[in-house]
Amino acid sequence: MNRILIRNLGRIGGISEESLLQRSGEHLSNWPALRDAWLLIEGSTIIGWGTMTDEPRQPPNTAVWDAKGAWVIPAFVDPHTHLVHSGTREHEWKARLQGASYQEIAASGGGIMHSVRALRSIEFAALIDESRLRLETMRTMGVGSVEIKSGYGLDFESESKMMRTTRTLASEYPDMNIRSTCLALHAIPPEFRGDMDSYVKKVTQEWIPIWAGEGLIDFIDIFCEQGYFGLVHLDALLACGHRLGLGVRAHVNQFTVMGAVRRAVEGGALSVDHLEELDSDDLDALKHGATFPILLPGCSFFLGIPYAPGRLLADSGVPVVVGSDYNPGSAPGLNPFFTLSLSCLKLGLMPEEALNAMTINAAASLQLSDRTGSVGIGKEASLVFISGLNDWSTLPYHFGQIPPIRVMLKGRFI
Ligand SMILES: [Zn+2]
Repeated sequence: MNRILIRNLGRIGGISEESLLQRSGEHLSNWPALRDAWLLIEGSTIIGWGTMTDEPRQPPNTAVWDAKGAWVIPAFVDPHTHLVHSGTREHEWKARLQGASYQEIAASGGGIMHSVRALRSIEFAALIDESRLRLETMRTMGVGSVEIKSGYGLDFESESKMMRTTRTLASEYPDMNIRSTCLALHAIPPEFRGDMDSYVKKVTQEWIPIWAGEGLIDFIDIFCEQGYFGLVHLDALLACGHRLGLGVRAHVNQFTVMGAVRRAVEGGALSVDHLEELDSDDLDALKHGATFPILLPGCSFFLGIPYAPGRLLADSGVPVVVGSDYNPGSAPGLNPFFTLSLSCLKLGLMPEEALNAMTINAAASLQLSDRTGSVGIGKEASLVFISGLNDWSTLPYHFGQIPPIRVMLKGRFI
C-alpha cells in the first residue's frame, strides 16, 4: 500500500484519540496540537505521527513531502448544504438590496419555488455537471465530507433526480464522504397547495420508503416554520425515521419559535438546524437531549437576520456544530474559512471552538466522527495544509483570506 511521510509540519491541530467522537462543554475549546511534527499515512489512513526530534527512518516504498513549516488541520465537514440545485437567484438578491424581504419574495412566487421550477426542468446530466462544479470548489477549499439535501424537486421524479445526483457525485468522488438527505418536506409543492397533510402522508408513507429501499437516503429532513410544516408533520417524519431506521434532521427556529426544538429532541432527532430564534425551553431541551444543534451563520449573514446564540449554546454544554447552509437563496457561499470567521465574529465562538464545531462535531452530526473530522490513528487522512499561521486564531482573523496550500483527501493530494 502507498505510504507517505509528511515532514516538518509547523503544527498538527485537531488531534483526538480514537474513542473521542465529539467535543462539548469545557472540551469544546480543546484543540490538541503538536509542534514541529511528522505524519505518516498508509493508503487512505493516518498510521502515525510524532515530533521531528523522533522522526522515523524513512521506510521503504514511502513518498516524502517536506511541508516546510505548514500547519495541518483535519479536512472540514460541512453538515448542512443544498449543494445540488439548478441555477442561481441573483435577481432576488438585488430585490432584497432594494428592500424586499425573503418572505415577500417567497410570497410572490420566488424563493424556494423559483429553484423548484428550475430543478424540475433541468436534465439529470446537466444537474450533475452543475453540482460537480460546486463540489470541486468545495474540495479545493478543504471540505472532505459534506451532507447534501434534496428539496427543490417536491415531486417523486424530481426529488429522485436530486438524490441520484448526490449518489452519482459520491461515486465520482470516493475520496470524500457524501451523505444524502431527503428534504422532500422543504416546501408545499403547487400540486398539494392547501393540502399539506396529504403531501406529508405521501412523502412519509409512500415516497421515503421507496427511496430508502433504493439506497438513496442516509437521513430525512423537514422545514418547520410558520406557513410551512408544523409540529404534527415533524412528528410524522420522526415516526417515519423510527420505522425505517433513518436519522432525522430538522430545519427549525429560523424565523419562529414554535416548540419544534423540544419536539425534535424528545423524538430522537439527530440534529436541529438553524436556531436563529431560541427560547429557554428550546435550550433546556437541547441541554437534556442528544440532538446536535447545527448553526448556519452564512445564512444570517446573507439574509441579515439574527445569528443563532452560539456562545450561549457552547456555554450550555451542548456539542455545537457549524455548517454553511450552502444554497442559492439564503447562503450562496461555501467557503469554510469564511464560515469559521463568522462563527467567531457572530456566533461568539473562540477559534478553537469554531474549529471543533466544523470538524469533529460536524462529523459526529453526520455519524462520521469515528473515521473523519480529527487527526487520529486509524482516521482518514483527509487534511488541509495552510501556511502563514502564527496562531490558530490567524485562520478566522484573516476572514476568508487564507487558501489552503494543499488538500489531501483519504491519503491523496487533490
Ligand atoms: Zn437548509
